[in-house]
Amino acid sequence: MSNNKFDFMAIADQCVKCGKCKPVCTIFNINQDETTSPRGFIDLLGAYKRDELELDLNAKEIFESCFLCTNCVEVCPMDLPTDMLIEQVRSDIAKKFGITWYKRVFFFLLRHRKIMDLMSKLGYVFQTCGLKIEKETQSAVLRFSLPIIKKDRALPYADTISFLNKYPENLRFSKVEKRKKVAIFIGCMGNYTYTNIGDSLVKILKKLEIDVFIPKKQLCCGAPAYFTGDFDTVDYLIKKNIKYFETFINDVEAIIIPEATCSAMINIDWVHFLHDQPDWKKRAEKLVPKVIMATKYLETATKLKDILTDSNKKFDDLVTYHDPCHAKKMQGIYQEPRTLLSKNYKLIEMSDSNRCCGFGGVTMQSEKYHLAKAAGSPKAAMIRDTKANIVSAECSACRMQITNSMYVADVKAVFKNPIELIADAIEE
Ligand code: SF4
Ligand code: SF4
Repeated sequence: MSNNKFDFMAIADQCVKCGKCKPVCTIFNINQDETTSPRGFIDLLGAYKRDELELDLNAKEIFESCFLCTNCVEVCPMDLPTDMLIEQVRSDIAKKFGITWYKRVFFFLLRHRKIMDLMSKLGYVFQTCGLKIEKETQSAVLRFSLPIIKKDRALPYADTISFLNKYPENLRFSKVEKRKKVAIFIGCMGNYTYTNIGDSLVKILKKLEIDVFIPKKQLCCGAPAYFTGDFDTVDYLIKKNIKYFETFINDVEAIIIPEATCSAMINIDWVHFLHDQPDWKKRAEKLVPKVIMATKYLETATKLKDILTDSNKKFDDLVTYHDPCHAKKMQGIYQEPRTLLSKNYKLIEMSDSNRCCGFGGVTMQSEKYHLAKAAGSPKAAMIRDTKANIVSAECSACRMQITNSMYVADVKAVFKNPIELIADAIEE
């Protein structure tokens, strides 16, 4: 699989060196170093293509420091896709240096749902002795450091039963002849850790009298492997999912996803990844019109707004909404969750809701945690400044990162997916 969509040299030639991308770049703001800035990356990639730069450990270090936040893409006058170039070169890096053992284990588990289920159960047992659990923030702190993850970090923990194992495949909520039916793609973190998101989505769909199909054989969308350059795993997961989605896509109005990253991966990155496999690309493109983020579907295609307006549950909670990179910048979704939340909660904007939270992917959360920590600190500070008691975003990766950033900075707000907040506002 070559999967080289972009010609690094041609793109490097297109960069006009205007520098507009630098002030918004997450890693440049930490390092203040031209080498780790969007135009620095692009320059180096051109040199790599011209055989003037060896892909050595130093280059690996540089290309692994990008957060893939797409801030640079949003402002670039030449529309240069720096994030996708980095994803491409990470595949070359993975081929040359291999993938670290624990990432290989993780990606193996993503391919094999049943073993992941078992590991998650074992993880649940380990938690009881290895973690200090904080129920309110749905996070846990390690009692001792592990080789990859040090203590004094707030981490997500596995729930007793996964979302996909909790419900039957079909939930019939429609009471009318002409039935509406949607499928839920839950994402790995929503399935194993923040299972309340799926429960809340089911509750909302029940209220809306929309039938639900829970596709039990769904696998990871492939995002963690894609950002790490493990393209074999990505290829496997995308094709397995496409084949499976095709078996039910005509029976549902939409596949709804309460997770920005999974939604962007399926809607945008699958098609991009399959650019050199035309038959598969066409199959992925056919699914795209029906795959939609949950708040967008609920706001545009249902009567939820009216239900929330009529609800007597008006909360005093002050909610500040963070825009996940994969929602606003990649899919243009930012108004929909705010519109729904504003019906029952007081909203307050943080100073830069569009600033990347600093999650950055598996590598950033393990061996480059110092960068994730540095990127997370301004986000925690702007949340503190709002005095909000709840921070919300439709993304569990942001949730993991922001919860930890707030833990580190001693900010007391609690993180909730907007779907959870909306479900709380529905009267039973
Ligand atoms: S994707 Fe984000 S971190 Fe990477 S170069 Fe662009 S702005 Fe910088
Ligand atoms: S904004 Fe685009 S064109 Fe300008 S320096 Fe950055 S990558 Fe190059």
